[in-house]
Amino acid sequence: MNFSSNSGDSNWIDNNLSKRGNNFLCRVDEAFIADNFNLYGLTSLSNGAVFYRTLKRILNTDDETDASSSTQQFREDAEEREAERLYGLIHARFIMTSRGMEHMNAMRHQKKFGICPRVACGTHLLPFGLSDEPDIEPVKLYCDRCKDVFHPPSRKHQGLDGAFFGTGFPHMFFMMNPHESSSEKKKTFVGRLCGFRIHPSAIEIQLKSQTALDNHKKTAKITIKPPTKPQPSHDEPKAKIPATETPAVDEVT
Ligand SMILES: [Zn+2]
Repeated sequence: MNFSSNSGDSNWIDNNLSKRGNNFLCRVDEAFIADNFNLYGLTSLSNGAVFYRTLKRILNTDDETDASSSTQQFREDAEEREAERLYGLIHARFIMTSRGMEHMNAMRHQKKFGICPRVACGTHLLPFGLSDEPDIEPVKLYCDRCKDVFHPPSRKHQGLDGAFFGTGFPHMFFMMNPHESSSEKKKTFVGRLCGFRIHPSAIEIQLKSQTALDNHKKTAKITIKPPTKPQPSHDEPKAKIPATETPAVDEVT
């Protein structure tokens, strides 16, 4: 089947890229889409006839209907979602090629994917997926310096499938473009309290002392003894009661 594209009339891809949240997607070359070799394995995702009809829609080579009106109608149709899905899966393959990486690298330098949200980083991010299977996880963003993954800050990307980028894209990108990898060592934030650096084991020491204090409170028995009356000792001599002195009375003669 011939999938030679009609480049002068192919606007489905442009329409798809202009949709909300699809700005992470690059423009896949139509020659890549039209090459059967690049579609190997994707035909099993849907009925064969539906697959090729969807492919014709993407490439705008369906001569049976008017391109502009059919594109408008296609948006409301379930086949439009099928076309978006197929384009995304082809996109995941395209960006693994050198041509696709060029597109994505240009978008990366234009900060189309944003920068790392860590204050001490700010590296340009790359999109990727946590699964190669569609309809599993929305797209995520990868920071090469932090070696960490982030949610896209905008909600509009929650509807963009991570499988449209694949799990291996950032790693293949930096393997093929090592000069684009951040050679600078990861910067770590240094916390200070009253101008002094906090020792790494400070929290651990606090936890240990807190645990010890809690255990002491649980086991300690506080007993209040009533005051006892002191008993005189038998060995001790009894205190002499001083005799009352009788007042001297002068005899009256
Ligand atoms: Zn980072």
